[in-house]
Formats: sequence, structure tokens, C-alpha cells
Amino acid sequence: MGSIKLDNVEKWFGDLQVIKGIDLEIGDGEFVIFVGPSGCGKSTLLRMIAGLEETSRGRILLDGDDVTDRLPSERGLSMVFQSYALYPHMDVRDNMGFSLKTAGSPKSEIEEKVGRAAEILKLDDYLDRRPKALSGGQRQRVAIGRAIVREPKGFLFDEPLSNLDAALRVEMRFEIARLHETLGTTMIYVTHDQVEAMTLADRIVVLKDGKIMQIGSPRDLYEKPDNLFVAQFIGSPK
Ligand code: ADP
Ligand code: MG
Repeated sequence: MGSIKLDNVEKWFGDLQVIKGIDLEIGDGEFVIFVGPSGCGKSTLLRMIAGLEETSRGRILLDGDDVTDRLPSERGLSMVFQSYALYPHMDVRDNMGFSLKTAGSPKSEIEEKVGRAAEILKLDDYLDRRPKALSGGQRQRVAIGRAIVREPKGFLFDEPLSNLDAALRVEMRFEIARLHETLGTTMIYVTHDQVEAMTLADRIVVLKDGKIMQIGSPRDLYEKPDNLFVAQFIGSPK
């Protein structure tokens, strides 16, 4: 299970309010994308869901449980960071298994889970390599693998492809779509790339200045934008 509910969620940094009255329900297995211009609050909202950022007001529920005040490790969600967050001195196997090792999982279990993630991500032949001996796309796969081995209820991605070149971005976009099909796990994905949003999402949440401007399927947003901001952002003809 991996349903997520935001109930009137708000965030201040000192006097600056950056997230304003967000209500949102995400169903188990849904692929939801947050889009919006730089500084609109996408990362802050995602980090609040992950528990990496305190929630100033409102509630966050996971499968109906109030997790607003719970630590990230108690939420059962995995954040996928950009690939430069890999440990350079560890090979792919150890990079992927690290969180399980620190959690005290038995070696056989770590091996099995890393093996399965490597298979899904087509990294079987690269387990002994260090990050510097991998391509950008392979490194990003390792970063995703680190999240997969924890078998989370939901994946949280913050612009995972933004430091890849255009061709690799397209390839990884397909990989992420395939991953969602394979695992069927809830995914929240932040991007400022409209094409990424339109091709991956079940539903898109358009944010501006910490508020939701519209929520809908890619088709809804394209064909029936609620306002000029959404129309211009999505590039649809309103
Ligand atoms: P996005 O990811 O959409 O680009 P962010 O969530 O990073 O936007 O930032 C939203 C707003 O919150 C911005 O105005 C940013 O400057 C501000 N902000 C983010 N993190 C902090 C922080 N730790 N302290 C103060 N302001 C912050
Ligand atoms: Mg951001």
C-alpha cells in the first residue's frame, strides 16, 4: 500500500511562506508529477512528504496514518537523489546495499535484494564497478537501485534527470516508466520539464508560489487548462 494524503499543508521559512494550503490525495500505485517554475515550492513539498523538512501546519497521512511528526526512516518512502550522491569509493553492489547494511539486514538478504534491483535496472554486469567507471545513465540507475532495495511504499524523485544530457534524459524517462510498470509502486516525481511530466504522469499537479493551480491528467491539463498560467506552462492553446 502507498496512498498519500496532504491535508491543508503549509510551510514557512521564518516569515516566508513557501507552501500554502495544499490538499492532495494520491492513490496507491499512482504516478503523480509536481511541475512549476523554479522556486514555486516543488522540492520543499516533496521533502515535507519525505519527512526531510518539517511541516509548519496541516497533516500528512500515509495509508491513513498521520506521519506528520514521524522521522523519514519511519515513513517507508524512498527518496531518489541525483546520481552525484553516490559513494565514489564503493562499487555498485555496496552503493545499492548500503542502507540495508546500516539497518543490520543479513548479508544473504542484502545480496538477494541488490541482485533483484540490479536485474530490474539492467545493472547485473556492473555490480563490481565504482561510479566513476559508469555512464551518467548507469549512475542514475544505481541511485534508483538504492531506493528500490528498501522496498518502499512510495518513491519520491526530485528532478532525477536534470543533470543528464538530452538523449540520456529520454532513455531514463523510459526506464522510469518501465520501473513504475514493473513495481506498481506509488511515485511522486518533481520536474520543471513539461515533456517529462506529460509523458510520465497519471496526474500532474501544477504549482505556483506554493499553491496548486490545477490537478489533472496530462490530457486534462492540455485540453482544459483552468487558467492562463497552466495553459502557458503546459504549452496548450488556451
Ligand atoms: P523549487 O523546488 O520549486 O524550485 P523550492 O522548494 O526549492 O522550489 O523553494 C521554494 C521557496 O522556498 C524558494 O523561495 C526558496 O528560496 C525557499 N527555500 C527553500 N529552502 C529554504 C530554506 N532552507 N530556507 C529558506 N528558504 C528556503
Ligand atoms: Mg527544486
